[in-house]
Amino acid sequence: MRELQLPATDEGLQSTFHDIELLASQCFFQDCKHQGEPRCAVKIALEEGTLDPNRFHSFQKLEKELAYIEQKEKEKNRKTTKKQKRPKM
Ligand SMILES: [Zn+2]
Repeated sequence: MRELQLPATDEGLQSTFHDIELLASQCFFQDCKHQGEPRCAVKIALEEGTLDPNRFHSFQKLEKELAYIEQKEKEKNRKTTKKQKRPKM
């Protein structure tokens, strides 16, 4: 796949944790939180030792921060537009 070749700029989560992003895309559930869901590719990688738990921990931390920012954005949008959208979570 050509798309795997990301430029070495800091694109935040996506490039920093590209390997985890890749794993996450292989999870059975698209909205997988990688916290014990069945058929979680990240969990399997952790169990197999192909993914460093510390690395995954920082990934989750960053993801949490991003989710928080996203939530804030959503709240802002909710105030301006009253359209009901299904949450992506
Ligand atoms: Zn997962």
